Amino acid sequence: MSGPPIRTWTSKERSWLHQQGLFLIDEHVVRQREAASWHRAAKFANRRLILFVPAKVKGKEIPIHPFWDEIRHAMAKDHSLESKFTITASELRKNQNFTLGEISFSREVLTGRNIPAPIRNWEISANSVLPQEVESATSFERLVSCPLSWTLRYVAKVRAGNALSIPHESLILGKIGHKILEILITEKSTWKEDEVSKRTGELFDEWSPLLAAPLLELHNGIKRNDMRFHLQNSMAQFFALLRNAGIRIHNTEISLQKKWSETVQFKGTLDLIGETATGKKILIDAKWSGKPKKYKERLSKLSVQLSLYHWLLSDKETEELPVAYFMLRGGEFFSRPHEDIPSDYHVDGPSLLDSIMTIRKSVNDVWSQLSQGTVIASGIATTAEHDNTFTPLIEPSCDYCDYQNLCGSRRLDQ
Ligand code: SF4
Repeated sequence: MSGPPIRTWTSKERSWLHQQGLFLIDEHVVRQREAASWHRAAKFANRRLILFVPAKVKGKEIPIHPFWDEIRHAMAKDHSLESKFTITASELRKNQNFTLGEISFSREVLTGRNIPAPIRNWEISANSVLPQEVESATSFERLVSCPLSWTLRYVAKVRAGNALSIPHESLILGKIGHKILEILITEKSTWKEDEVSKRTGELFDEWSPLLAAPLLELHNGIKRNDMRFHLQNSMAQFFALLRNAGIRIHNTEISLQKKWSETVQFKGTLDLIGETATGKKILIDAKWSGKPKKYKERLSKLSVQLSLYHWLLSDKETEELPVAYFMLRGGEFFSRPHEDIPSDYHVDGPSLLDSIMTIRKSVNDVWSQLSQGTVIASGIATTAEHDNTFTPLIEPSCDYCDYQNLCGSRRLDQ
C-alpha cells in the first residue's frame, strides 16, 4: 500500500477562488472521504485481510500508506507497544517458532504446487452446451472468435466482479454521441452545417450532466471542450453528407428480430435506418472510437456486426443494401461500395451476402464442435496433442477478456 499525494490549495488561493465564485471542498472532507475509502475496502474482507508494504514501486521508493498509521494507532496508542505485535521478515525466516502478542506460531513447509498450464481444448459432456434461444451480434462475435469465452459468458454465466466503477470513457462518449444524434434526427430531417453545430453544442451541454458527468470534473475541462468540438464538427459533416447524397434517416435505435435457425432467433438494435435518393433502405452504424481505421479495416475484411444487421434488415436474400459506419468522434464515413453513396466513402471488401454465409458457416461449425463436447479457447496456442484445425473467424480479444485467468491466457504473458 502506498499513499496517494493529496493536492492542496493554499488558503490564499482558496480565498481568491472563493471570490471568483469557485467553492472548493474543504481539505479535511477530502481526507475523510479518502480514509473512508480505505476503511470500506478493509471492511469488505470477510475472512482475512493481508496488507503489503512495498518499499519501491517501479524502482521508485514510495512512502508508507497512511492507513498503516491508523492501524498502528488503533492497536497501540504508544509506539513502545508496537514491538509486541510486530515481527520482521528476517526473524520469520530464521526461526521455526515465534510468538506474537500472546499467540505462538510455528512455521510449516508447504509443498509447492505448479499453476495449471493454460488449456486450449476443454472437454465437456456432449450436448451440454447448446445455442441460446435468442442470439445477438455481440454473442455471435464472441462465439466465432473464442468458443470458451462465449460458453463462460452465455452458458456458464460467469461474470466479472461487480466492483463499482465509472464506465469506460469511450462508452460514456459513445452514449452521449448517440443521444445527440438521435435528438437531432428526431428534431429535423435536414440540418444546415452552422445550425447543426450550434444545436449539437447545446445538446452536449444539456446531456453531459446526465450521461457524461465525469467530463464535468475540473481537471477534465480541456477534454470536455475537445469532445464538444469534435462532436459539433462530426455532426456537421454527417448532415452535410446526408443532404448531398439525398439520404433521409427515418428511425434510430430500432430493435428487430428474425429467425436464424429452427431453434434460434436473432435479435439486434440497429442505430440508424433511412432511405437513399433511389428509395433503398440504408443502414448506418454510429460508433465512437479513437481508432476509426479499425472500422474501415472491418469493411475491407469482415464486419460481423454490420453483416448480421444487414441480414436482419434486408427482405431479400440476394440484394445488398447500402450500409456504412459513421464515426462520431472524427466524422469519418465508411461505406460498402454502392451506387447510392458517393464513391469517396467506399471501402472495398467482401460483399455482405458472402460475409453472412461465412459467419453462418463459422457459427454452425462452432456449435457442432460444442455439441460434441469440445470447447476451444482460441487465444491459447495449439499443441501437438491437441487439435490444430480450429481457426477463429475473428481474432479473440484476449487483452480485454474477463476470463484470462480461467483459460490461462494471462499466464502466457508473464
Ligand atoms: S482470454 Fe482469450 S483465449 Fe481466454 S477465454 Fe478470453 S478470448 Fe478466449
